[in-house]
Amino acid sequence: MHDRYEIERLRPKRNEVNPEIPYHFLQEEEPGENGSVQKINTIFLTGKECSFRCLMCDLWKNTLTYPTPPGAIVKQIDYALARLPKADVIKLYNSSNFFDTKAIPLSDYPGIIERVRPFKKVIVENHPNLCGKSCVDFNEKINGKLEIAMGLETIHPDVLPKLNKRLTIDDFKKATGFLRSNKIQMRAFVLLNPPFLTDEKENIEWAFKTIKFAFECGVGTCSIIPTRSGNGIMDMLERNGEYIPPTLHALEEVFEQSLALHQGKVFADTWDIGFLSDCAECFEARKLRLEQMNLTQKFQEKIKCNCIQ
Ligand code: SF4
Ligand SMILES: [Zn+2]
Repeated sequence: MHDRYEIERLRPKRNEVNPEIPYHFLQEEEPGENGSVQKINTIFLTGKECSFRCLMCDLWKNTLTYPTPPGAIVKQIDYALARLPKADVIKLYNSSNFFDTKAIPLSDYPGIIERVRPFKKVIVENHPNLCGKSCVDFNEKINGKLEIAMGLETIHPDVLPKLNKRLTIDDFKKATGFLRSNKIQMRAFVLLNPPFLTDEKENIEWAFKTIKFAFECGVGTCSIIPTRSGNGIMDMLERNGEYIPPTLHALEEVFEQSLALHQGKVFADTWDIGFLSDCAECFEARKLRLEQMNLTQKFQEKIKCNCIQ
């Protein structure tokens, strides 16, 4: 087992970040209800590093090594919203757990609640084991609906315990049951090619099984996240043959199979996925197809290329 000390020791340098400015923000689109398109303002907040040390995580690169200073989160939201067009939904992603008060100080809640008032939905990220009363309280205080995004990663029985996430399948069932009973919506992050699974077919199979499980738990949206190296330990595992990067083909397969379930929304994360492809001829067209499928939630004809058998 690789513990947090080894994971930390192998890390490359973190990026320089400023607690007054979000490290990134953008407007994106997602399908809404009844075939509509929703505009989403996504703010990647700069805050305290997550207290978990998941093996595959690289979100720590844009975090602070100390508790988020009070007032900083509200300032960052103002900074981003002043520069973004109007939107229906707001995502506040803090590279950690929204309901960890060292990451999002309690004293910032009134300011946050005021800023998110114009939005129909507020999406935040949080570890399943940190979902409790504070989520319910926050949901009651905001104007729109709350959705909590959680890393389920994989339900592979040998792989999940090795991710150092301190999460079991039962924990996930418990968290989703709790959130569901409190009418809080949920989305799950599912890994394509977690470490320790090095056969392409198995990777497709387990990502699909994980998405199916998430839907069975009442999750409304699943995002397929292709894993990557670059956080130190993943690079070491890749050198040792214990991790292989996913292929574009695998991402397409899992996405198509999961959409065909018609049990909820599925998104293929297409951010920076150039590394999944080794064919310059078809990559852009295939990426565009995935983006269109994200938006329509419908299968689109496959792209033909000499590199695809
Ligand atoms: S819980 Fe999420 S943010 Fe925290 S270390 Fe794990 S993957 Fe990273
Ligand atoms: Zn090709």
